[in-house]
Amino acid sequence: MLFTQNKPTEEVLESLGKEKDIFLLACNGCAEVCETGGEKALSAMKDELEKAGKNVTGTALVDFLCNKLLVATRLARETDKIKQSDSILVLTCGIGVQAVAKVVDKVVHPADNTVSLGGLQGLWPADERCEACGDCALDYTGGICPITFCAKHLLNGPCGGAQDGKCEVDSEKDCGWQLIYERLEKVGRLENLKKIYKPRDHSKMLPSEDLRKTSFYDLEK
Ligand code: SF4
Ligand code: SF4
Repeated sequence: MLFTQNKPTEEVLESLGKEKDIFLLACNGCAEVCETGGEKALSAMKDELEKAGKNVTGTALVDFLCNKLLVATRLARETDKIKQSDSILVLTCGIGVQAVAKVVDKVVHPADNTVSLGGLQGLWPADERCEACGDCALDYTGGICPITFCAKHLLNGPCGGAQDGKCEVDSEKDCGWQLIYERLEKVGRLENLKKIYKPRDHSKMLPSEDLRKTSFYDLEK
């Protein structure tokens, strides 16, 4: 299980910017347990967005958003609503947001941060990984994790060492930043690359004190 915490509402609204029509998608697995996904969180987020003047085009719950087959099958029923949306706001862990970006050519925004409690993602065959950095950057990178797809964990563009789209650290692997560039180009968000991403605050990897009280750290005492 991966643990998640809500991003502050102001941060979520800032990431949506001028986008008006938003489709809401939430995970009914680990995120539901953390109360950052599931029906209740979905409904609370819908209220927040409408209060901020957004139009929620539709909502959907998927049992395990980290499973791309489930995501694709469920979203096939929502094609029209998603087409008329500017973006999809996803209430789940970093793996779930990446899974959604992989199956839909639409801008995705994470509503949650994945924090480090030593849990594991759902065990589906997948390339997506999350290091539970506590400050999810997928909004800025088009749904491809710069921490796990870039060998140097770079947050502000490529190192310049890639050869033919392959990473200079491991030529068997695609350069993560090449993938991010292609994805941002596909969804029309290359302007994201002009933003300067602040240095990571590693203390954010730790969950809040409240959440730590519920973890195995406490159970082990
Ligand atoms: S940026 Fe990557 S490591 Fe950090 S929470 Fe998002 S998916 Fe996980
Ligand atoms: S080549 Fe690409 S993936 Fe590899 S370290 Fe440089 S920027 Fe990161």
